[in-house]
Amino acid sequence: MEPKEKLNREIEIYLKEKQEAAPLFRLYADLFQLQERYAGQAKPHLSWSREQARELLLQGHYLLKGRSPGIDPVLFRKVLGEIVETVIRHFPRAEALRKIMRQPELAESELPRFLSRVDLRDSAALEGQLRRWGWKDDGAAGSSLAAYVLREALATFYLALAAAVREEVNLALWSEGNCPLCGLDPAMAMLNAEGARFLRCSFCRTTWPFPRLECPFCRNKDPQRLGFFYADEYPGRRVQFCERCKSYLKTAVVKEIGREVILELEDIYTLELDHLARREGYRPGRDLALLQE
Ligand SMILES: [Zn+2]
Ligand SMILES: [Zn+2]
Repeated sequence: MEPKEKLNREIEIYLKEKQEAAPLFRLYADLFQLQERYAGQAKPHLSWSREQARELLLQGHYLLKGRSPGIDPVLFRKVLGEIVETVIRHFPRAEALRKIMRQPELAESELPRFLSRVDLRDSAALEGQLRRWGWKDDGAAGSSLAAYVLREALATFYLALAAAVREEVNLALWSEGNCPLCGLDPAMAMLNAEGARFLRCSFCRTTWPFPRLECPFCRNKDPQRLGFFYADEYPGRRVQFCERCKSYLKTAVVKEIGREVILELEDIYTLELDHLARREGYRPGRDLALLQE
């Protein structure tokens, strides 16, 4: 997780550069801090020894495969309630989102069953579930916003676990394209000051190294079928794409930007690059994550 000072400093930079996205950046800053506060209370339990974790990673099994991070329903509802209020504070029109706290399946007694039945990491499946509960897919507080707050509440528990894992396990042992902790596909990438490539899971915010000339989604290594484009308005940002699976990944180049950015903020800042990539016929690899399993 990012220190508060760095987060605030970065937010200020983005606010200056992209005033129109201010409510989103501000929401994100509050969300980050809220999650960090609760992650400290989540007390994750690592269900493997350091040696077992090492073996899992070397064999290409992500650490939470078939396991849950262990979720206290009381704490989950507390986190969810605060996330809902935070969203409404920044987007007052989303007021109807509050009704999610009264959803019977999310009551304290029902929550463990719900969490074992529905994979909240999977946005598409989660939105489908919300629509079956009668949430509309449009409006200021629709199924996708409801799915978002549920996922972020869950992510708080994964963040706690990810922090514990980073202290115990060397993620350089992992050589796959998906997240070594939760198994999701990367949402962003970064080339660090030395030019090494790192991928980032936007769910549990784990970062891991990955070869520069390989598609993390389909493992294509043919340089003829890998490429990138950029837009002059976004110096230091690239959209890497793969002609084999037609997916793309936005990448921040630290040496060109001149500072180590926070990739979740970069993701918001460069939304236009997503539009460009889609217009060119590429898909974000991350949305396909769980469909490929
Ligand atoms: Zn992850
Ligand atoms: Zn590919």
